[in-house]
Amino acid sequence: MVRKEQTQPIRNALVKKMEKLWSNAGQTISKMKDADGNYADPFDQAATDSNKYVELACRDRERELILDIKETIMRIDKGLFGICDHCGRVIPKERLRIEPMSRLCMECKEEEEINHKRRNRQWPMKGISYNHVC
Ligand SMILES: [Zn+2]
Repeated sequence: MVRKEQTQPIRNALVKKMEKLWSNAGQTISKMKDADGNYADPFDQAATDSNKYVELACRDRERELILDIKETIMRIDKGLFGICDHCGRVIPKERLRIEPMSRLCMECKEEEEINHKRRNRQWPMKGISYNHVC
């Protein structure tokens, strides 16, 4: 179990990061609204559309990141931060320092990459059991 005083600074940093991402997303939305219908010239219109596309693609990645951060905060709150989702072993601190949002230990991560498993975003509602110890 990772101790609370160790996870608190990580949690704070994650919350800050998420707030920043949210405000960025808000700006993207309002920028898109402003651009709507302001261009009569078809070439300008095309340029606006491609900008929109880039921004939307960007927002998709941001949304992914926000989800990852949210999940990590949840893991911290549940006392599951730093524990491998797959095998239940403690994830080495060095790995968490580089990738605070990692949910798998190195071994399981490698295994996952080999198998190209889909990431499972589902959280079990009642406790967490590790039936498949690797
Ligand atoms: Zn593992």
